[in-house]
Amino acid sequence: NAPVEEQDSELFDLIQRERLRQRSGLELIASENFTSLGVQEVNGSCLTNKYSEGLPGARYYGGNEYIDQIESLCQQRALAAYRLDGKDWGVNVQPLSGSPANFAVYTALLQPHDRVMGLALAHGGHLTHGHVTPSGVRISATSVYFESMPYYLDEATGLIDYEQLRRDASLFRPKMIIAGASAYPRDIDYAKMREIADSVGAYLMADMAHVSGLVAAGVLTSPFDYCDVVTSTTHKSLRGPRSGIIFYKKGETNGLDLERAINSAVFPGLQGGPHNHAIGALAFALKQAAQPEFKAYQNQVILNASALATRLIDLGYDLVSGGTENHLLLVDLRSKGIDGARVETILDLASITLNKNSVPGDKSAIMPGGIRIGAPALTTRGFLEEDFIKVADFIDRGIKITQDVKAKTPGAGKLKDFKAFVRSNEFPEIEQLR
Ligand code: PLP
Repeated sequence: NAPVEEQDSELFDLIQRERLRQRSGLELIASENFTSLGVQEVNGSCLTNKYSEGLPGARYYGGNEYIDQIESLCQQRALAAYRLDGKDWGVNVQPLSGSPANFAVYTALLQPHDRVMGLALAHGGHLTHGHVTPSGVRISATSVYFESMPYYLDEATGLIDYEQLRRDASLFRPKMIIAGASAYPRDIDYAKMREIADSVGAYLMADMAHVSGLVAAGVLTSPFDYCDVVTSTTHKSLRGPRSGIIFYKKGETNGLDLERAINSAVFPGLQGGPHNHAIGALAFALKQAAQPEFKAYQNQVILNASALATRLIDLGYDLVSGGTENHLLLVDLRSKGIDGARVETILDLASITLNKNSVPGDKSAIMPGGIRIGAPALTTRGFLEEDFIKVADFIDRGIKITQDVKAKTPGAGKLKDFKAFVRSNEFPEIEQLR
């Protein structure tokens, strides 16, 4: 039982390099965060050794006295985090991550080939909300096993086009509408989505993966007043371990007992033994989420994203929807003659990590016209508004370098030519930015 450093220097060295990368760069990926040492401690604890198929008090294995208590504690803290204790909501904390959580809900509430509507991937939705490629390929299991039709943003405003959703839903008659996104910089009008779902007798599910920390802190609208089911990852703005979670309304909805259906979709439907280390680490993260510092952190996330947005607008950039109300923003680079993929490549070399992202009207997801920038991770590192103004200036420098390098790249202007050109030449301006 010697330390990993002594037993496996190859792996240890790679972990050290990743640690250094995370510490020395500017982490702006909207779905990432830095967990506390406490979360890491529990996640790396002996809880990983235990099998516990079933639910607290009803397991298929012995030896679960403490695991039962840990899972129950996690459930109680999850309900408390969203002010649901004493209300008619329950929670399953076993999903292994966000995608399995969503699929468990579909498995529980829908029959194969039932219809769902989610925000289009190119307009900020997630793959698990039912993506079909423009050429008709069903690349998500959601679109393989269910019939999906996207709803869209109004391209003029960058806001969800609720009226078009209402019209399309009245024709498509989905059994479920999914509210939630991976790249939408605005709050969601769950009340309106509830009204639309009711008009066609559909379930309303919110996937609050990106914003679950902000919702817990009460700085964004809570979906719980309007939805039948709410899913989330636990490792984004919530700052917990990599895991998933499903909240459901107790009692019957549309003649179905959601609690029974969801619990049995998770196990035995889709999973075996829960990841008890992740459940324990989530319980710890949820204790942290109940502290006043957590609310202050989430407030700061919003202030920081807003400061970043204002500076980028002042520097002449177009933002989808004209700004942000949450933790992320989308820069539409098309008027700058550059794309998100090239900017991501150059910024990566300068240790500024963000991701290329489609913006409304884009033709290609491989070379989309935008970048997505998130504030949660650097806010955890203590960055304030003035720091994010500097971050905006660094990004601006990176974009200008990208424009220059693109102009110098020989060949037909393909992304692979650009990457090869960057790899085979020295660019002191990138080194200076780093
Ligand atoms: N739902 C949304 C809105 C997401 O943004 C993501 C991931 O980015 C997921 C679900 C899937 O989560 P996971 O990657 O944990 O499967």
